[in-house]
Amino acid sequence: MKPSRRSRSLKRVAKRTPGGRLVFHFRKKRPGYAKCAICKRELHGLPRGRSSEVRRLPRSRRRVSRPYGGYLCSSCMRAEIKRLVRESLSGTAETARPQAGGEG
Ligand SMILES: [Zn+2]
Repeated sequence: MKPSRRSRSLKRVAKRTPGGRLVFHFRKKRPGYAKCAICKRELHGLPRGRSSEVRRLPRSRRRVSRPYGGYLCSSCMRAEIKRLVRESLSGTAETARPQAGGEG
């Protein structure tokens, strides 16, 4: 085997030749699907490729265009934003409330 093909970063695919021999073809491994950081479900709308292949894509196809896009799924993003807002309100409720009411 060629030394460059001994690398375990290549995937070996067994192929049967017309003569009946079993040979290995070498393919680059593909990374797994992108997953939500909280619920670990697969994220939709993201490319599944090596980083060099993903970099060739236009920016709009690398990420979902919303906050935490490509990192959290939509339902986890909603819950996370609500949690952050509630925390910030509860932390400064006495001082922030009168100001917000005066402005609005
Ligand atoms: Zn999620």
